[in-house]
Amino acid sequence: MMHIAIIGCGQLARMMALAGWPMGLRFSFLAEAGENSDCVAGLGAVVERSPAVTAEALYEALGRPDVVTVEREQVDTELLRSLRPWCPVYPDPDAIAVCQHRGREKAFLQSRGIALAPFRRVNSADTLCAAVAELGYPVFVKSCEQGYDGQNQWRLTSDNDRDALIAQLECWPELVVEAQVAFSRELSIIAVRSASGTEACYPLTENRHQGGILVSSQAPAPALTPALEQQARELAERLLQHWDYVGVLAIECFVVGDQLLVNELAPRVHNSGHWTQVAGVCSQFENHLRAICGRGLGPTQPLAHAAMLNLLGQLPPDHLAGSGEIQLHLYNKQLKPRRKIGHLNLQDPDPQRLQQRLATLEAAVYPAQAESPSA
Ligand code: AMP
Repeated sequence: MMHIAIIGCGQLARMMALAGWPMGLRFSFLAEAGENSDCVAGLGAVVERSPAVTAEALYEALGRPDVVTVEREQVDTELLRSLRPWCPVYPDPDAIAVCQHRGREKAFLQSRGIALAPFRRVNSADTLCAAVAELGYPVFVKSCEQGYDGQNQWRLTSDNDRDALIAQLECWPELVVEAQVAFSRELSIIAVRSASGTEACYPLTENRHQGGILVSSQAPAPALTPALEQQARELAERLLQHWDYVGVLAIECFVVGDQLLVNELAPRVHNSGHWTQVAGVCSQFENHLRAICGRGLGPTQPLAHAAMLNLLGQLPPDHLAGSGEIQLHLYNKQLKPRRKIGHLNLQDPDPQRLQQRLATLEAAVYPAQAESPSA
């Protein structure tokens, strides 16, 4: 029985373990000191990280895993590298190091000739003012680290906004300033590469965000053109091959005209790939495990259209939770405003009907404006 150690203990670790148990895999999880690990309760041993411990002792504490992987990019990549003498670590810590820092990620993408929004790296009031003057309002200011789901992120539309941000920042973290992109929609690519170098992509997924948080996804994205699909495939191949990547890589993109601009990379399974738990594909969770365990990849071409609605600080009404038409996933998390506590998946042979069902579902889960995910 192969043993996988996952760095992290949130919902992505939970869904990987839930996919891996029937594959005969067992799991352990590395939590930060004092971190809540309810999401993975009952799915394997949870080890708390202690800074003093050596890599060898950590490897022992994790139960001598056959492979180490991650469920988040904010991990100590030195720690990952130090585990390598004992077992493979996938994806490559070099890829994770790039993806965990927006400044490094954007510089890397630019150096590879990959299209992205114009940006500047800043770390002071002066450099921020210069960047804004060059890029023009509106701009997005994002912290290079610790920024996800719209956290540590500001949209500035005027000098007043800029000055308010300068006054608010007590110390200056590394930031990127990015021109606002007039995108027609947001798409993501969920790609996977196995240890033997086989690659696969799920179809492009269309994602809707509110306040920087993903609300819903639909796959395949409506009205895909062969040119867009080819761009996505080529983009994924270039990145996967560059890093000799093993596992799932998610690429979030803006669509401008008929071009994909990369917004962000995630070196892991991704919220916009949760729909892969339905529609007759091998889920992103199973495919990630297949990849890192050296097994062949499962199918990524869906037999139906699929959609996902995030549950943000909100349980679905009982009649929906129990409906046979909807697949409910809960993460064993306490309810808090806007917190991702689960998601709903649905599938339909007809994309228009799927879109309608998704809209009806969203209205039922977030009935009042006050409860809507954008509130
Ligand atoms: P991020 O944290 O970079 O994934 O951004 C979260 C969301 O904010 C994105 O999915 C977009 O909806 C929006 N956003 C971020 N950056 C930009 C940008 N440069 N132009 C327009 N919208 C953006």
